[in-house]
Amino acid sequence: MTERIVAAGYKAFRAKQVMDWLYKKRVEDWDAMSNLPKDFRGWLAENYIIYPVRPILDKRSDDVTQKMLMELEDKSLIETVLIRAPKKGVGQEDSRKTVCVSIQVGCAYGCKFCASGLAGFRRNLLAAEVVAQLMHICRREEEQEGGNEHRTSNVEHSTSNGGGESQMSKQAQERPAFDNIVFMGMGEPLANYDALVRTIRILNADWGLNFGARRITVSTSGLAPQIEQLAEEGVAVRLAISLHGATNAVRDQIMPINKRYPLEKLLPAVKAFQQKHGRMLTLEFILIEDVNDSLEQARELAKIARNLHAHVNCIPYNTVEGLPWKRPSIPRQDAFVDILKKAKVSVTIRREKGHDINAACGQLRLKTEEAAAES
Ligand code: SF4
Repeated sequence: MTERIVAAGYKAFRAKQVMDWLYKKRVEDWDAMSNLPKDFRGWLAENYIIYPVRPILDKRSDDVTQKMLMELEDKSLIETVLIRAPKKGVGQEDSRKTVCVSIQVGCAYGCKFCASGLAGFRRNLLAAEVVAQLMHICRREEEQEGGNEHRTSNVEHSTSNGGGESQMSKQAQERPAFDNIVFMGMGEPLANYDALVRTIRILNADWGLNFGARRITVSTSGLAPQIEQLAEEGVAVRLAISLHGATNAVRDQIMPINKRYPLEKLLPAVKAFQQKHGRMLTLEFILIEDVNDSLEQARELAKIARNLHAHVNCIPYNTVEGLPWKRPSIPRQDAFVDILKKAKVSVTIRREKGHDINAACGQLRLKTEEAAAES
């Protein structure tokens, strides 16, 4: 941006001012950038769009999962979800907030249990469209929680980098009003690799949102070559693998990607990532009745998790209209988890949030598009 600004005849330092207005003060109007000359603001307005994504529907479920349907410039629809979870620790009234962003319109990977795959793939998002989802969530949360007051009080995220108290306070004011970002919305992040990495760099940059890469999770259905590439990218993000089957036979039934990258190709790539970054990764496992919830699957999953030093996140299947799959009974879920625990695998079972607002990925967008087509 500095290069473009200089080429247009303006001073280089203006780029830093624009970044401050966008990412620290989070304005959504060029005219609000009051320390910029008027002709420069006019040039910006002619050449850039601040938010190429517009929220059109905001749904909140009883269990405090909040879903925003967003419209892109070409009228495509995407979803962004905010999930609130209780903070660990006694007496903490505030809640930990995770934003789940989309990175494609639809998805080409066609996992059999997923609403995003149902309508097929339309296009990749630009990095700007991914970042804009987060900026909208950020602005809305700050408005709801008292703007600067909230940001100033949110000091627990500050990292001392030698700048002293005033530096910490400034960083706290600038920090987004959420704690984690997960690329688990619509689309396969590693299939839109360049936009993914560009987005992570913008989020991470001190001129950007200054958001730690360690609080960003990239969730993939298993694109082995891109996992290896990401390991070498120099961004210390967390990795989550949508495994959903502990053998090729089961994975083949529900995840077409397994034909291209079966477990014997996927698992070594994941292992390489884990060894490079030295951090525990997550294996996501949606429990679907009579598909992958057998005790034999649990035993195979335990072997994989131990080998990869991975945490297992079991998610009882969230019903998707138009798909035949069912959620296993609670005793069956518990028996599955018990096998993992007995094998000393770190495991959680996530009783899915957002069931009542179609929060499984892609459901809200699918329903809205179907309704629009019928009307
Ligand atoms: S689970 Fe992920 S990769 Fe599979 S179809 Fe859905 S969005 Fe695509």
